Amino acid sequence: MLIDHLNAKLQAIAAKDLTRVLRVAESATAPRQRVRAAGSAQARELLMFCSNDYLGLAAHPALAAAVHEGVRRYGVGSGASHLISGHSQAHAELEARLAEWMAPQIPQARALFFCTGYMANLAVLSALGDAEAAIFSEELNHASLIDGARLAKAEVQRFRHGDVAQLDGLLAACRRPIRLIVTDAVFSMDGDLAPLPALLALAERHDAWLVVDDAHGFGVLGPCGRGSLAHFGLRSERLIAIGTLGKAAGVAGAFVAAAPTIVEYLVQAARPYIFTTAAPPALAHALLASLELIGSDEGERRRIHLRRLQDRLRAGLGDIVARHARGAWRLIASDTPVHALVVGGNDVALRLAAHLERAGLRVPAIRPPTVPPGTARLRITLCATHTEGDVDRLLEAIDAAAREVA
Ligand SMILES: *Cc1c(COP(=O)(O)O)cnc(C)c1O
Repeated sequence: MLIDHLNAKLQAIAAKDLTRVLRVAESATAPRQRVRAAGSAQARELLMFCSNDYLGLAAHPALAAAVHEGVRRYGVGSGASHLISGHSQAHAELEARLAEWMAPQIPQARALFFCTGYMANLAVLSALGDAEAAIFSEELNHASLIDGARLAKAEVQRFRHGDVAQLDGLLAACRRPIRLIVTDAVFSMDGDLAPLPALLALAERHDAWLVVDDAHGFGVLGPCGRGSLAHFGLRSERLIAIGTLGKAAGVAGAFVAAAPTIVEYLVQAARPYIFTTAAPPALAHALLASLELIGSDEGERRRIHLRRLQDRLRAGLGDIVARHARGAWRLIASDTPVHALVVGGNDVALRLAAHLERAGLRVPAIRPPTVPPGTARLRITLCATHTEGDVDRLLEAIDAAAREVA
C-alpha cells in the first residue's frame, strides 16, 4: 500500500519534469570535478557552476591541514550534544571568534555554533517564535526558514518579495508583543539582496527584531567578507544574524549571532541545538583557519577576482537575454556570486541544462518547489577558483544551448 502510494506520487513528480537525480562527485569540490551520473559507472570531468564554495576554500590546503591538526588534537567524533560533553575547546574558540567577527554589527554579540544552517534556522524561529510572537516572513525565504516558522507557535505572516510598504502595514496592524521580521540577506535562488537598511528601520520603528540569514553573503560581501550587514554598514541590538559555514567558509556548520540574552535562551530552549550531537571538533578547528583566510589579503584577492568574474558573466548573459527567446527570458539583478537566468518552463530549463551538460558544463535547472511555478531557471554560481576563460566557455555554451532550445 505504502509502496503503491509512493510510486503514484513519484510518477506525478516525473510527469511535471520535477524528478531530481543524485550525481556522485569522485574528486574534491572545485570548478573542475569528476562527476558520475546516478546508475552510471563512468565519471566525467565537468566544469561546475553550481557549488556555493564562493571563495574556493572547500579544498584549500590550509583548511585540509587544519582538519588534520584538529583530528590529531580532538579525534573524530564529539561524542555527545553540546550540553552533555560534546562542547570542545575548538567549538568555544570558534564561537568567541565569530562573536568578535559580528561585534561591529551587533553590539556585545554572542555567537552560537550549529551543525548546519538548516538547524540554526529551525532553532531561531522555533525558539524565539513562541505563542507571544508574530513572524513576518519574506516570501522567497529559504526552505529552512519556512520550516522553522512552521515549527514555531507564533502567528506567521508572509510579505511580498522586497515589499517594505506591505511589511510596514502588517507590522502596524500587529498586536502581538514580540515581532520577528525574517529574511534571507541574499536570496539563494535569485542572488539579489534584501533591502536590509529599510527592514532594520521598520524593526526599529515597530519595536520588532530583524532575523537575517546571511548564508550567501557571509565571507563574500562587505569589508573583509564580514557579510551583508557589514556591506550595508548596519549596527543594531535588534539584529539576529545567521551565517552558514559550508558555503564561502568552505567547511560545514552555521552560527547564530545576537544579543547575549537571545543566545543564552537558544542554549536553554532551542531543540535543534540541544538534541543533536555536536559537530566534530576538528571542523570547528578548521573553521578558525577559514575565518583567518577570509579576513586575510588572500581572501580579499579572491573576492576581487570573484567580482571581476561576476561583471564578465553578467555582461555576457545580458547579451544572451537580448538575443534569444524574443526577450522572454530574464536575468535577475545581482551583486553576488549567485546569478539566475529565468526561462519560465521546467522543460526549457531542463533542456538547457542537459545541453550544457553534454557540452561538459554543469549548471543546474532550478524548478518548483524550490522556486515559484513558471520561474524555472538556470542558477549559475561563480567561485574565486574559476578563471575568466571558464566564464567565457560558459557564455558560449549557453548561447549555443539557447539557439537550440529557445
Ligand atoms: C544553504 C542555506 C541554508 C542552509 O544551510 P546549511 O548549512 O546548508 O544547512 C540556509 N539558508 C540559506 C539561505 C541557504 O542558502
